Amino acid sequence: MNQKKYVYLFSEGNAGMRNLLGGKGANLAEMTNIGLPVPPGFTVTTEACTRYYEDGQVIGDDIAEQIFEHLEKLEKISGKKFGDPTNPLLVSVRSGARASMPGMMDTILNLGLNDETVEGLTKLTNNERFAYDSYRRFIQMFSDVVMQIDKNLFENILDEIKEQNNAKYDTDLTAENLKEVVKRYKELYRKEKGEEFPSDPKVQLLEAVKAVFRSWNNPRAIVYRKLNDIPSDWGTAVNVQMMVFGNMGETSGTGVAFTRNPSTGENKIFGEYLINAQGEDVVAGIRTPQSIETLKEVMPECYEEFVRIAHILEKHYKDMQDMEFTIEQGKLYFLQTRNGKRTAQAALRIAVEMVEEGLITKEEAMLKVEPKQLDQLLHPMFDQEELKKAKEIAKGLPASPGAACGKVYFTAEEAKQRRQLGERVILVRTETSPEDIEGMVAAEGILTARGGMTSHAAVVARGMGKCCVAGCGDIKINEEGKYFTVGDIVIREGDYISIDGSTGKVYGQKIKTVEPEITGYFGTFMEWADSIRKLKVRTNADTPRDAAQAVKFGAEGIGLCRTEHMFFDEDRIPAVREMIVAKTEEQRRKALDKLLPMQKQDFIGIYEAMQDRPVTIRLLDPPLHEFLPQEDEDIRELAENMGISYEELKATVDSLKEFNPMLGHRGCRLAVTYPEIAEMQTRAIIEAAIDVKKRLGYNIVPEIMIPLVGDVKELKYVKDVIVKVANDIIKRENVNLQYKVGTMIEIPRAALTADEIAKEAEFFSFGTNDLTQMTFGFSRDDAGKFLKDYYDKKIFEYDPFQKLDQSGVGKLVKMACELGKQTRQDIKLGICGEHGGEPTSVEFCHNVGLDYVSCSPFRVPIARLAAAQAQVKNPR
Ligand code: PEP
Ligand code: MG
Repeated sequence: MNQKKYVYLFSEGNAGMRNLLGGKGANLAEMTNIGLPVPPGFTVTTEACTRYYEDGQVIGDDIAEQIFEHLEKLEKISGKKFGDPTNPLLVSVRSGARASMPGMMDTILNLGLNDETVEGLTKLTNNERFAYDSYRRFIQMFSDVVMQIDKNLFENILDEIKEQNNAKYDTDLTAENLKEVVKRYKELYRKEKGEEFPSDPKVQLLEAVKAVFRSWNNPRAIVYRKLNDIPSDWGTAVNVQMMVFGNMGETSGTGVAFTRNPSTGENKIFGEYLINAQGEDVVAGIRTPQSIETLKEVMPECYEEFVRIAHILEKHYKDMQDMEFTIEQGKLYFLQTRNGKRTAQAALRIAVEMVEEGLITKEEAMLKVEPKQLDQLLHPMFDQEELKKAKEIAKGLPASPGAACGKVYFTAEEAKQRRQLGERVILVRTETSPEDIEGMVAAEGILTARGGMTSHAAVVARGMGKCCVAGCGDIKINEEGKYFTVGDIVIREGDYISIDGSTGKVYGQKIKTVEPEITGYFGTFMEWADSIRKLKVRTNADTPRDAAQAVKFGAEGIGLCRTEHMFFDEDRIPAVREMIVAKTEEQRRKALDKLLPMQKQDFIGIYEAMQDRPVTIRLLDPPLHEFLPQEDEDIRELAENMGISYEELKATVDSLKEFNPMLGHRGCRLAVTYPEIAEMQTRAIIEAAIDVKKRLGYNIVPEIMIPLVGDVKELKYVKDVIVKVANDIIKRENVNLQYKVGTMIEIPRAALTADEIAKEAEFFSFGTNDLTQMTFGFSRDDAGKFLKDYYDKKIFEYDPFQKLDQSGVGKLVKMACELGKQTRQDIKLGICGEHGGEPTSVEFCHNVGLDYVSCSPFRVPIARLAAAQAQVKNPR
């Protein structure tokens, strides 16, 4: 039987094998094959990772065997031997999932060192200091990552020895000092683990591979996956690669660079490096790195070579690359390349310029911007007037653009809790580490005292689209005392500050923020998206203000106007309540007559804001008890105002109470009981349309939508009420006004009988909030409390109320589309549940042939791009 292949040499893979080799492994293979200087190595596949979990977190013998076989091949290629004291092969062991997850999983460098091989390394390089520097790094990383010993314990020893020897930086330590560090590290290891540090390189290797597999499920990786829609069953690959050393002295170094600026998108190489350092030093922010430009003077040949290869890579991948490199005694190596993370601004500029440069097509450009990222651009910037008056107190690096204002907190935990209490938070840290991810999510913006443009805070913030000012050395943080100082200014926990991630400026005060606009690269890009997409994008809006905002963001109509908010309005709630407590139809009609002019005015405002665009207005949906007070005191006050007794009102309130209001007297059921409510609303909708049409000449075709229908007969009943009122008015006014009557499909029975429903409905709008609720049987209001356990126990990967459950709820949607079209070929199909603005759900809507999606105003641009991407991926 052919044995399954779990390990590939770099020379055996290519960029197309991403699912199997992970992004890093596939790109290392691709670079190897196009002849770039990549240290040799091999990749243990993502399938080996899934096997590891299936087998109960052990590495199968067959997999271990293949790892060692490939290790032998690597020995041949490199001419070095693993564990050989005279000529030791050292390797790095690094994670690499299908989608890049920067800093989320584990890395071990310098693996293969022990007391013998370190001597070999010394002899071979004639550099004892370097050998012991590598050894101490390895012991610390292995102990931390593989054996989970707190890395601070190691840092403390290092700091102590630095202090004893008056060394400011690590690089000031001598070989003797470093030997002492190694000795102390090994003692610490023995104390913590009750055994010696493992000296057998093969044991080190298997343990390291296991640790990388395990790190796939560490808490920060899980959080990152959830934020980025990465499924947990993908697993990570492991890359084992011959070490090259950036810490061999002044002609060695290591760095990170991008082919274009990841913050602004400018077409110019951008990056940082450190001389005499290893990879982790650059991102850890221990020493402040140098800009890549200065390499031109220090090592001109290396720089030229670097620029040449960077261009090759960008052309090859047709995307901006994020590269890691190491210079070992003047020789340049590439350790990684991947499509670089970038801010939304940068993503748009890069996409547009790459089209203009002829590198990619407009269609390809669509796929270069994450729809969700656009959100960053739709949020406020500082008000220019207030900004002029504001006093800058410090300046750091402009690490991730945007403006943020909030209260200062110093730990991720505190930031998270304060956010949950509704506060706006700025997370202030000396530097961030992957453990801070949840606090970063919760914060409006992040301010760090240390670290460069490629520090953890900067990279992660850019990925999230969070405003970030990094490396702000002016501020001195006292985490325990919960304050920071800048000169003699003291900012305490809970004080407001404002930070500008585009300039790096920090202000010790609140600054007002203003709405953004879609212009420049953003404007051009969105025009292209509109010319490509087939799916229309509408908005859910109930006020002229929201409607106008949505139009600015490109909405092509209103897909859902919820009329209930209009009932809640302060000056009309008395009439609403009067209507509810009415004992007779006559009383109720009297109250409704008071509401009519106000409701008509609402619709006039909306039609005016939308001009000729289609508007779908939904009849009243929530149960009536929502409009009545619940507390005794409030009931008493209302009764007095209404001139009825407390008892009478209390009895009405009680009689309206339901055990299960979400499944209760709401939606079209209200209109069945009280047709006069539907009559009033229809009157307002039609009269407002006639008014605006006459006055302003817009061709308004109101779409009247009936909610919560489960049976064609209830739909027909309410529709007849609407049609009668509408036709009477149109006749009386003697105008030519078209209108449509349709329904929400939000009850599973409506989806199942959509062929019958379509006999009466001219359009369907999928209310996937209720449809999800009723298909799963999860209460919309309560499920959040227990769904968390579903994620923790890996029963669910995501919240079905946010991202459409395509295989269940989606199946109903698809079926209803097909059944609806069987009856009425030209039936208009849309969606107005929350899913209408979520990119994967938008793609689904495109694929099942909906005419439009409808979402909140701020998600309109996201939906426009998601719709264009869906068309590029699956043209229709
Ligand atoms: C829905 O159920 O998806 C919907 C849009 O209606 P509502 O959220 O108002 O119930
Ligand atoms: Mg609903």
